[in-house]
Amino acid sequence: MFDKILIANRGEIALRIERACKELGVATVAVHSTADADAMHVRLADESVCIGAAPSKDSYLNIPAIVAACEITGADAVHPGYGFLAENARFAEILEEHEITFIGPTAEHVRLMGDKIRAKEAAIALGIPVVPGSGPVTDFEEARAFARDIGYPVLVKAAAGGGGRGMKLALFENELEPALITARNEARAAFGDDTVYLEKYLAHPRHIEVQVLADGQGNAIHLGERDCSLQRRHQKLWEEAPSPALNASERVRIGETVAKAMRDLNYRGVGTVEFLYEGGEFSFIEMNTRLQVEHTITEMITGLDLVIEQIRIAAGAPLTLRQEDIRFNGHSIECRINAENPATFRPSPGTITHFHPPGGLGVRVDSGAYAGYTIPPYYDSLIGKLIVHARTRNECLMRLKRALGEFVVDGIETTIPLFISLISEPDIVDGNYDIHWLENHLAKPGTRG
Ligand code: ADP
Repeated sequence: MFDKILIANRGEIALRIERACKELGVATVAVHSTADADAMHVRLADESVCIGAAPSKDSYLNIPAIVAACEITGADAVHPGYGFLAENARFAEILEEHEITFIGPTAEHVRLMGDKIRAKEAAIALGIPVVPGSGPVTDFEEARAFARDIGYPVLVKAAAGGGGRGMKLALFENELEPALITARNEARAAFGDDTVYLEKYLAHPRHIEVQVLADGQGNAIHLGERDCSLQRRHQKLWEEAPSPALNASERVRIGETVAKAMRDLNYRGVGTVEFLYEGGEFSFIEMNTRLQVEHTITEMITGLDLVIEQIRIAAGAPLTLRQEDIRFNGHSIECRINAENPATFRPSPGTITHFHPPGGLGVRVDSGAYAGYTIPPYYDSLIGKLIVHARTRNECLMRLKRALGEFVVDGIETTIPLFISLISEPDIVDGNYDIHWLENHLAKPGTRG
């Protein structure tokens, strides 16, 4: 096991990782920007190092500063969390060159899955069904010919994409050229890479993803699925496990397909294989080679600590869990508490004047927020996650309603009122929603949170 882990992240996920390290008896090093000197992840770590100025590129994305922080503190491993450097293959390589363990997959697998075009080719080779799509498209004529082939509407997507950026819809042929240009510009600005491809646009899918755990030593299991269909601008807001749309045999079928693929790839670490699910068919869209924001709901229904599993695997331990050891217990829902206006989603940074998280049986709050904390304007707006767990989906909804009612966050705007309004929607109660449901609902007058 490692002696000391440096956590190259901030906010609730840095705290989440510190908690796992403490339970493993491993010392922790927090890194922070000048804007985060008072943050909870800094206060709760055994040691902390300031790695640069507020903008992410100067601190949380500053590889030399992070490597230097490892050397100064003697950290022998780095947990990247999600976002920032979590899917940066070069970062993983640089750490290995300095004999520091990257808590994640091999750089080769990070790079493969980070290119969504290559990832889809790999998925096909591994026997995973994919959404029909093209290779890289460079000119309009080529794109037009391909789009005619697969049929409209088509989605232009960035090969390096993430967070819903660099994705543009063309309903008809006359929209294809502007979609290509905007997607390419957005991709260049966000990822420094303007490679784009086309994908068939599915009209009413659900977003269903499979959690995997593998040791890079020939063992891989799946931990069931999460349904992340409730999205706004292709970003998840509410996730639940299991999916209200799957039955047990569909769960086993997709889970086993994915676990076998991960064994064949000799994948190491935690990972998520994302699908669109429509008409009883799963179609791969991408794989995330890291811990995800919504890993918590899988933890609630399996009773496993995914971060502890991830750290053990990175330390070289073989997976001791077998597929038949995994039991799915009850239902779990996560709501992302963002510092945003619940109707317009405009960020709402500022000082939290009162903070009272809910509690009680089956309620978990992962958050670094506290009364008096000032949310800096430089980073994403997620300030916490409310996770509830109960024996059935109905009990889970009632518990969520109760927990949301207890949650007090004053001084800033949050997405809590939106979730309070969603919980009484008949479609939500029935589990009857697809990836467009939330945006359609928000577009209706008088229905905003
Ligand atoms: P990112 O990496 O930017 O999150 P993804 O490929 O994971 O991009 O897609 C994010 C979301 O965009 C999906 O959950 C889904 O809502 C929507 N989406 C992606 N591809 C398609 C598609 N082919 N048809 C319809 N919706 C899609």
